[in-house]
Amino acid sequence: LLGADGSMAATIFAEMSALAARTGAINLGQGFPDEDGPPAVLEAARDAIAEGVNQYPPGRGMPVLREAIAEHQERFYAIRLDPDREVLVTAGATEALAATILALVDAGDEVVTFEPFYDAYGALIALARGIHRTVPLRLPDFQPDLDELRAVVSDRTRVILLNSPHNPTGAVFGVEVLREIVALAERHDAIIVTDEVYEHLLFDGVHTPISTLDGARDRTVTISSGGKTFSTTGWKVGWLTASAPLLEAVLAVKQFLTYVNGAPFQPAIAVGLRLPDSFFADAASALRAKRDLLSSGLTAAGFTVGLPQAGYFVVADAAAAGHPDAARLCRELPSLASVVAVPVTAFVHAEHRDAYRSLVRFAFCKRTEVIEEATRRLAALP
Ligand code: PMP
Ligand code: GLN
Repeated sequence: LLGADGSMAATIFAEMSALAARTGAINLGQGFPDEDGPPAVLEAARDAIAEGVNQYPPGRGMPVLREAIAEHQERFYAIRLDPDREVLVTAGATEALAATILALVDAGDEVVTFEPFYDAYGALIALARGIHRTVPLRLPDFQPDLDELRAVVSDRTRVILLNSPHNPTGAVFGVEVLREIVALAERHDAIIVTDEVYEHLLFDGVHTPISTLDGARDRTVTISSGGKTFSTTGWKVGWLTASAPLLEAVLAVKQFLTYVNGAPFQPAIAVGLRLPDSFFADAASALRAKRDLLSSGLTAAGFTVGLPQAGYFVVADAAAAGHPDAARLCRELPSLASVVAVPVTAFVHAEHRDAYRSLVRFAFCKRTEVIEEATRRLAALP
């Protein structure tokens, strides 16, 4: 985690957003929307503040939100949960991930993730002094190879941590992949931790939570967040659902990380989770149009694009556009094209960087005119 001089490196997202702010470039680096989400959700937070919902909420989260999370899991996935024992509200998905990894992983335990992986995974596994093993995802579809997955999971594996829909690639793991993860977890007595923050941002088909598969429920911690679904990334209201014994273990850690957070935002996210189905469908189709716009713009600019099935991001191979070193391209992009993007090497282990050297992640959770302007600039890239 520490650099050679003992300092902690800034995350790639903080670095890239600072670069965008400094240069005035269009920020397609850090994944956050540039428009507000549903007015009813924003209004509910304002109302809660006005009504005095401003002190510590209960340690597990406000009942109204825990109930809304349970209702949401039942409405969309037919998962029935006890909101008092099987739902825990956290400071974003990030705290859910941190508390879960710190609760479950002891020094020397192995954690398997797919690579590229969301940057916090590597840092959290290191904080727990775990050993991070990875299964590679590759262009064109970024689906894991089942033999490679089987080769990595063993009796030393404590946690298999998956993220589908996946950041950065936008891959949605097929059901046969999910089934194999459950079978391996059962065979090696591992816990499944599943990061489903992009659960509502699928461009085709529906999301299948791994906890709904046979054998998964009692060994799975499911993590999500209001940030992506309601365009409220700054509110940091997330949650996890798990069987009561697993949840108790995570809560034991969580109470000493933040204790609680975001009192007035919790009832507001509850309002969001209860919005009609049409809200969720419309948000995904609006984002799908942005995916198509940015993907075709990148293709026109000479990049090879792996079309994402979900989420905020598209991964493009810059080698075809004459830029084999994506990290260098991303450093130069603000001055070459006044656009900021993130090299995929930021999501992989140093020793695996060569395989991802020419890949760039672009965020498309931005206003249409911003994406159009960015594609015009990228088309003029030397
Ligand atoms: N997991 C993934 C895969 C993410 O992309 C993000 C944030 N963009 C998070 C977790 C963190 O979510 P939160 O902001 O709710 O902490
Ligand atoms: N998850 C967002 C992304 O992938 C950023 C979150 C952060 O800044 N840590 O861009």
